[in-house]
Amino acid sequence: MSKSHDKTAATTSLNHHDRQPIHLPGSIQPHGVLLVLDTQLEILQVSENTKKYLDRQPDDLLGKSLECLIDRQKVAAIRHSLVTEIGSTNNFKVSIMTEDGDRYFDCVVHRSQSNVILELEPTDSITGISFFSFHALVAGAIAKMQSTPNLTEFLQLVAEELQKIIGFDRVMVYKFDLQGAGSVIAEAKRVDLPSYLGLHYPATDIPEQSKELYRRCLLRFIPNLNAPSVKLVPLMPVDLSLSVLRSVDPCCVAFHDNMGVAAMLVISLIQEGKLWGLISCHHHNPKYITYEVRKICEFLTQIVSSELTHKVSQSESDYKAKLKSLQSEFLESISQADNFIDALIKPEIRLLDLVSAGGAAVCLGDQITLVGTTPDMEAVRKLIVWADTQVTDNLFATDSLPKLYPEALIFKEAASGLLVLRISTVRRYYILWFRPEVIQTVNWAGNPHDSLKVEADGSITLCPRTSFARWQETVRLTSLPWKTCELDSALALRNAIVGIVLKGADDLAQINLELERSNQELAAFAYAASHDLKEPLRGIYNFSTILLEDYAHLLDDEGVEYLQTVLSLSQRMETLINAVLQLSQLGQAQLQFQATDLNELLNEVIEMFRASRQELRLNVHIPKPLLTIQCHPVLVNEVFSNLLSNALKYNDQPEPYIEIGYLDTFAGQTGTPIFYVQDNGIGIQEHHRETIFRLFKRLHSQEKYGGGTGAGLAIAKKIVELHNGRIWVESTVGVGSIFYFTLK
Ligand code: ADP
Repeated sequence: MSKSHDKTAATTSLNHHDRQPIHLPGSIQPHGVLLVLDTQLEILQVSENTKKYLDRQPDDLLGKSLECLIDRQKVAAIRHSLVTEIGSTNNFKVSIMTEDGDRYFDCVVHRSQSNVILELEPTDSITGISFFSFHALVAGAIAKMQSTPNLTEFLQLVAEELQKIIGFDRVMVYKFDLQGAGSVIAEAKRVDLPSYLGLHYPATDIPEQSKELYRRCLLRFIPNLNAPSVKLVPLMPVDLSLSVLRSVDPCCVAFHDNMGVAAMLVISLIQEGKLWGLISCHHHNPKYITYEVRKICEFLTQIVSSELTHKVSQSESDYKAKLKSLQSEFLESISQADNFIDALIKPEIRLLDLVSAGGAAVCLGDQITLVGTTPDMEAVRKLIVWADTQVTDNLFATDSLPKLYPEALIFKEAASGLLVLRISTVRRYYILWFRPEVIQTVNWAGNPHDSLKVEADGSITLCPRTSFARWQETVRLTSLPWKTCELDSALALRNAIVGIVLKGADDLAQINLELERSNQELAAFAYAASHDLKEPLRGIYNFSTILLEDYAHLLDDEGVEYLQTVLSLSQRMETLINAVLQLSQLGQAQLQFQATDLNELLNEVIEMFRASRQELRLNVHIPKPLLTIQCHPVLVNEVFSNLLSNALKYNDQPEPYIEIGYLDTFAGQTGTPIFYVQDNGIGIQEHHRETIFRLFKRLHSQEKYGGGTGAGLAIAKKIVELHNGRIWVESTVGVGSIFYFTLK
C-alpha cells in the first residue's frame, strides 16, 4: 500500500470512528443486568443474560411491570426517585427472589430521554457499607489531600490514595491541554511496572465523544475488557450514555489491550464544568470492584475536582512566585558580579528554570556561551541573525521554530521552541532559550501502528492508538508553548540586565571616553607646556649664570647666595619639566615591540650605571638568566634603570644588595613572567605603596637620599602599562623592597 493511500484510509476511518455513536452500543458488559423501562416502569428491553442473574428468561420479563421482579415498596421508591431531573442516578439495594432463594443487587436507576434505565449488579448483602467503614476509607485521604497545597503533590497523593482503596496495578492522573492532548502528571503503580509519568499522548487517543461521556458520567468501570458483551433484546436503539454497564467500544478494548490492560476504572476530573483531566486506573488482570467502593472513589474524585480550581490557581501562582524569586536571585547576582556571564550562567540550571527551557545561549557580541541542550555554536550564530529580524519589543517566542525557520529542522530535538530576548541592539546582546520537540517526550506503550487493522473487505479500522500517527503530525516540530508568565520572566531579566549592567557599562564607557580624551589633551598640553617652558627657563638659567659670573662683585654675599638659589631652582625646574615631557611623550607613543634579550638589556643598564655614576658599590645579583621577550627595549631599559637607581638610592646599608630576576610562577593564564628588582634598602611604609607611583610623589626631602623628581616610578608605571603589564611593590620597612612588574 502506498503511503498516500494509507493516509487517506486512516483519515477516513478516523472520522468514521469519531462519528460512530458509542452511547448506542445496544449491549452491556456481562457483570450485571440492564432493563429498559418506560415511564410507567413496564419492561421494554432487557439484556440477554437475565437468566443467569435473575433466573428469568428475557421473554418472561418483557412487557411485564417491574413489580414482577422487585417488591412493591422498592418499586414505589424507584418511581419516586424518577421525578428528579434527567441524568441523575439513584441507587438502591434490592433483593430478587429466585428458585435458589433471594439474590441481592446494587440497583442503579436513571432516566434517559424517554426511558428509564435500571441496572443491577449482584452484591453479597442487602446492607450497604457502614458509615464507619466508609469514613475509615476516606477520612484519612481527605485530610491528607487538604493539607497538600502543591497541585502536583496533591494529585500524586490522590493517585496513591485511590490505588490503596482499589488495589489496581496503576493509577494515573491525566491532564488535558488546550488542544485536548494529554499528559500523565501523577502516577501510583506497582513497582515492577514501567512508569508512564510525564508522557504525552494525542487528543485523539480519547475521542471527543468519549470525552463528552466522561464529562456527563463521572465514573466508568470495566472489570474485564475482554469479557464478551451481552446484547439487549429486542433490538432497538437506547441511549446508554449514563449506563454503568454500557459495553466497551472495540477501539477502547484494542487500545488498552495494546497496553496489557485487562480491567480499568476511569474517573473524571471536572473543573468549572469542563473536563480537566481523568484519573485512569489500570489492572493487568480482570478485577471487580463493588459498586460502593466505586462510589467512594467517585466521591473522593469529586472532592478532588472541587479542590482543583483552588489548587490549579495555587500552582500557577506558585510557579509565578518561583519565577519571581529566580528573577530576584538574578538581580542580586548580576548587581554583585564582576563577571556578567558568570552571574547569568552560574548555576546553569537557574537560567534554564527562569523560563523552563532545556537549553540556552547567552550571546554577548561574538562571544556565545551555550548552556544545557542547544543547537551547535555555528547554528546558534546563524539563528541569531534570523531571530533578530523577528524580535518585537525585545522579545520573540515560537513553539514551532522549524516551521518558521527551516534550517532548524536539523536541531528540532533541541530547539523546536525558541524564546529570544534582545538585551541590547547596539551591543548585539541576546539570550536565547530552547525547548525540545514534544514528540521527543512521547513514548507511549507499544507501537502505535500495531492496532491498525485491515478488515476482510480491505478497509482499515482505525482505533485511537493509530491516531497517534496523526497526532505526531500535529505535534511534530513543536515544543510545549511558552507561558505568558515565562515571557514576563524573560523581560524582567532584561530589565535587570539593562538596569544594572548596561547602565554601569555605559557609564564606564562614557567615563573612559572622557578620560581618554582628557588624557590625550593633557599629554598634548603637558608636552606643549613643558616644551615652551623650557625656553624661558633656559633664559633664567643663562642670565643668572651671567649675573653670577660678571656681576657678582656688585652684590653682597647674600645677593650672590640668592642668585645661586635661582640658578639651582631653575636647574631643578628643568629636571622636573624634562620628566613631564618624557611622561607626556610616553602617552602619545605608538610602541613598536621587538624580541629583546633582557640579559643584554640589563647588562647595558648596569654598564651605564657604572660609567655615568662611577657607582662602585654596585652589587647586582642575577640568580638565573633572564628571558627574551617582546617589548620596547628603550623603554624597558628605562624601567630597569629607574628601579635599579631607586634600589641604590634608598639604601642605608654599607653593602647594598640588589637582586634582579623573574619568578617561577607566572601571572594569569597566558603565562606572563613576573620580573622583580629586590633591594635591602630602607623599605616603604604600607600606606605609601600605591602613592609612590604618582607623578612627583616623593617620600623624602630634597636633600635626603640624593634627591629626585618623584617622576621615576610614574614613568616606570606608564611604560609597564604601555606593555599591558602591571607594577607593584612589596616591602618591609628597614629590611628592603621588591618591585614586581609584568610585560605582556
Ligand atoms: P625619585 O625620583 O624621588 O626617586 P620615584 O618616583 O622613583 O622618585 O620614587 C618615588 C618615591 O618612592 C621616592 O621618593 C622614595 O621615597 C620611594 N622609593 C622608590 N623606590 C624605593 C626603594 N627601592 N626603597 C625605598 N623607597 C623607595
